[in-house]
Amino acid sequence: MYDTIIIGAGPAGLTAAIYLRRANKKVLLIEKEGIGGQIASSPLVENYPGFKAISGTELANNLYEQVEALDCEIAIEEVLEITKNKDVITDSNKYQAKSIIIATGCEYRKLNLENEEELIGSGIHFCVSCDGAFYKNKIVGVIGGGNSALINAISLADLCRKVIIIQDLDHLTGEEKYINEVKEKKNVEIILSSKVSKYLEENGLFKGIQINGEKDIELDGVFLSIGRIPTSKIFKDLVSIDNYGYIKSDDMNTNIDGIFVAGDVRTKNVRQLTTATNDGTIAAINAISYLK
Ligand SMILES: Cc1cc2nc3c(=O)[nH]c(=O)nc-3n(C[C@H](O)[C@H](O)[C@H](O)COP(=O)(O)OP(=O)(O)OC[C@H]3O[C@@H](n4cnc5c(N)ncnc54)[C@H](O)[C@@H]3O)c2cc1C
Repeated sequence: MYDTIIIGAGPAGLTAAIYLRRANKKVLLIEKEGIGGQIASSPLVENYPGFKAISGTELANNLYEQVEALDCEIAIEEVLEITKNKDVITDSNKYQAKSIIIATGCEYRKLNLENEEELIGSGIHFCVSCDGAFYKNKIVGVIGGGNSALINAISLADLCRKVIIIQDLDHLTGEEKYINEVKEKKNVEIILSSKVSKYLEENGLFKGIQINGEKDIELDGVFLSIGRIPTSKIFKDLVSIDNYGYIKSDDMNTNIDGIFVAGDVRTKNVRQLTTATNDGTIAAINAISYLK
């Protein structure tokens, strides 16, 4: 019987593990892929306090070492189900816990085209506040036409030589104020009714995109802004989830006693490293109070 099982070893889950182990709780951290979560695939992080610049892999390794040094049990398994009784069923085991922290994060929606996985982080990006600065005075594409695509295009336009928005519909779907702002930017081009059909690459380096199966557009980088998918499907019959799939949270508490949520998978406005570690801290402290 564990005091707390944490599901997901991204920044939120790892931070929760630090707090719980320092409080001497019996903790199991379960991760299905790689320790560190999304950030492990980022080449450079420049907005995490305490580090002027650090690679995502190094930051993830540091977090891992910190948790390991606290003798936290870690299982590399995929959680398939948790029950109201707090049984945690994975692809190879069944565990029991007095409390659970869900920290399964989010995945950016992708185009699922060839070479996409290999180019993510070097040519293909999702987060402008994270990776936009790499494209100063360069030409970038933004895929999508909703609010997040338009906001991304507006920030990139202040930084890049040119920004090309590619939207599959025949109109932009974001709010009018953002559409107007984008249209006022002299270095933003909007291409409508166009689907990305291929990523262009040369010797493993990103070179641009092809649209509608015929036209090549050379780009230094591209930002996919076609939404995010919270990793919450397996919890949908257990905890309350909003219309977008995010787990509803009130100060990291879910609607079930003893089940907490932290990080990108929960309802909130800003999904960043600092907010994930913030959530991990609060979820762990809530779990400690619950265990008392
Ligand atoms: C390329 C990239 C660059 C970024 N750069 C920055 C940046 O510079 N600055 C910044 O502040 N933010 C950045 N972000 C955002 C930041 O990484 C996220 O906000 C943060 O990682 C969220 O942490 P999390 O712990 O909530 O979730 P995640 O990091 O998503 O971690 C969740 C973990 O849960 C695991 N998991 C999911 N389901 C299961 C399951 N069923 N069983 C077991 N494990 C499971 C996943 O494998 C994953 O490891 C970037 C994101 C990306 C993709």
